[in-house]
Amino acid sequence: MAQVAIYSTKAYDQEFLDNANANNAHGLIYFEPRLSIDTVRLITDQKTVCVFVNDELDAETLSALKQAGIELIALRCAGFNNVDLKAAARLGIAVAHVPSYSPHAVAEHTVAMMLTLIRKTHRAYNRVREGNLSLEGLLGFNLHGKSIGIIGTGSIGRVGAEILHGFGCELLAYDRYPDPENMPVPIRYVPLQELFASSDIITLHCPLTPETHHLINRNAIDAMKPGVMLINTSRGAVVDSAALIQALKSDKIGGLGLDVYEEEADFFFEDISNRGIQDDVFARLITFPNVLITGHQGFFTSEAMTAIAETTMANISAFETTGKPLHAVTVKQLAGS
Ligand code: NAD
Repeated sequence: MAQVAIYSTKAYDQEFLDNANANNAHGLIYFEPRLSIDTVRLITDQKTVCVFVNDELDAETLSALKQAGIELIALRCAGFNNVDLKAAARLGIAVAHVPSYSPHAVAEHTVAMMLTLIRKTHRAYNRVREGNLSLEGLLGFNLHGKSIGIIGTGSIGRVGAEILHGFGCELLAYDRYPDPENMPVPIRYVPLQELFASSDIITLHCPLTPETHHLINRNAIDAMKPGVMLINTSRGAVVDSAALIQALKSDKIGGLGLDVYEEEADFFFEDISNRGIQDDVFARLITFPNVLITGHQGFFTSEAMTAIAETTMANISAFETTGKPLHAVTVKQLAGS
């Protein structure tokens, strides 16, 4: 029976993982803290660590994991930007992820963010509760007929395209590896600069890699349409957050939806309402009425959580019986799959 040290766990993680391990195939040991060099010492005799999006698996932590006897890292997510894959390969530690647990969960959250910002329902909700039924400042626009630029047309981008096609949008896309044959709906691949210049709404669905780090920076924003809406449900550091503030102040960006944030590891998934927000950029962003931020909840549906837990257990079982996880992440994928 594999013994698994599971980091960054909340009660909801335990519930879904325990259900997926109902046959007690594995011994699950839950830790609330994130994995970092400081928390490796929680490992006793486990051979597998199970981690999430904000755990830190840099070269130093991986070396310490190796010394602690870890053979497998089982990510409970699709993205693997937080793992130094080269160091893991050098140390002979296998890495597994959950490649596509529910693209619908994230794509639907993305569209929910768009519609909220377009129709300002986040503001209407608060107003009505205060007895303010005025429509001043709530003027929206039709999503129908708008040009949507999708950056990254993998599992999530593709489902997003399907949903937005249903709304009657014109779809533009940019991907490092375009795949027009497998697109379920008409979509026009264009160079990145053309996507910036022609899209009313831009939505990000590429992984965070060295190449996509700050893909959306001051220059990229300058190239966009005035009043553009930007949605990021991919990874925070694809966007240079500081560049957003000036663009919001000048109305260059007309709507901003973020489910992820560059510095989220320090406070996402936690209740810091008694401490206050220490991050000045984040604190400034939430003052704008046309900014909607959610705390990395795109994946958070019961269907996705079930799939994540089941695939994670399947990765661990496969590694135990064959020495290879079901869904291995390799250095080759680092290039930007
Ligand atoms: P995927 O691997 O299926 O698709 C990613 C797409 O991005 C691929 O088509 C790939 O070719 C493309 N791509 C790679 N490098 C690129 C580049 N430099 N420029 C443009 N496109 C590039 O991944 P997915 O399942 O669709 O997930 C996309 C991202 O969403 C993940 O990497 C993860 O960071 C994020 N995600 C967020 C949540 C959330 O809860 N908010 C949940 C799951 C995934």
